[in-house]
Amino acid sequence: MSRVNLLDFDLSGLAGFFSEIGEKPFRARQVLRWLHQYGVDDFGQMTDLAKSLRARLPEVAEIRPPRLVHEQLSADGTRKWLLEVGPDNRVETVFIPENGRGTLCVSTQVGCALECAFCSTGRQGFNRNLSVAEIIGQLWWANRAMGRDPKGERLISNVVLMGMGEPLLNFDNTMTALSLMLDDHAYGLSRRRVTVSTAGIVPAMDRLREVQPVALAVSLHAPNDALRERLVPINRKYPLEALMAACLRYLEHAPRDFITFEYVMLAGINDQPEHAEQLLRLTRDVPCKFNLIPFNPFPDSGFKRSSAETVRRFAQRLMAEGRISTTRRTRGDDIDAACGQLAGQVHDRSRRVSQRIHLLKELPA
Ligand code: SAH
Repeated sequence: MSRVNLLDFDLSGLAGFFSEIGEKPFRARQVLRWLHQYGVDDFGQMTDLAKSLRARLPEVAEIRPPRLVHEQLSADGTRKWLLEVGPDNRVETVFIPENGRGTLCVSTQVGCALECAFCSTGRQGFNRNLSVAEIIGQLWWANRAMGRDPKGERLISNVVLMGMGEPLLNFDNTMTALSLMLDDHAYGLSRRRVTVSTAGIVPAMDRLREVQPVALAVSLHAPNDALRERLVPINRKYPLEALMAACLRYLEHAPRDFITFEYVMLAGINDQPEHAEQLLRLTRDVPCKFNLIPFNPFPDSGFKRSSAETVRRFAQRLMAEGRISTTRRTRGDDIDAACGQLAGQVHDRSRRVSQRIHLLKELPA
């Protein structure tokens, strides 16, 4: 019989597991604390469980986080972990220290199927969804590595699902992982400090609002449909009007009273004064904050980063209308840990059209 991986369960899943093996459901709370608060990977250490249960658990269950391949430390304190998720596949997770808080950037898929033009993960194709254990396993590893500050506070105070993949296309596993992040018996993070970032999967944004409302970031990147279709192809399916309406619906239940719009600054493409004007008009009725992300280059991307002066002027135009705009500082780029640079290793099994064309070109005539 194959053993179940306890890192795949949130509290209710674990309670279900214990009742299935004839144990009291309250064991779930105890075990969840050992797994996620103490980072234990050995049943023998769970000292408040009966000896007989400790002996029996390894026969039916295991604690199997993704395998840690290596860890890198950037000059600015950013850390990156490369985790193996099955043969040929690796994902990356990044810790970004900031004054008084620390943010972990978590991946949800091996690769990504959305093919946003400026994203290096998108270039690598898509293999599969990560399991719950593989998503929460990133926080599990990072917590073990980072530990607590001298006051006993956890160093990881915020989680953003902005690593590799589109979280809302791996919906169920992402929801269970979110439930663990928020659970007081596991990581106990506040809803306001856990952010899902999406390229705009409209029906899934509605479900997220119902199932697990957390802070929401939307990767906007363009102020009109024609340009957005080029940069973020999923816009063909969910155009801007539908996306803006979904943002408004989300705000009815959101733990924060604004949506964050991410906007990657691409020289000469989406960074001109007319784009700022269009952006202001598009988002006029949506309570939001803009987060401008200077493009992080990667080989053969075909894009250039907007100049600091262009980014500054763009931000000023938004702020002149009373909008809040922050510009993301580039962190960890010396270890390829900046936004859009996470590559891991993806064994592409997708049937993306562009991928097939690429393969056809390589075939001998
Ligand atoms: N699929 C989700 C989350 C992953 S991407 C989403 O689209 O939101 C996290 C953020 O990094 C997104 O806003 C994405 O558009 C941005 N990004 C991707 N490639 C980038 C690059 N090369 N430079 C800067 N930001 C990039």
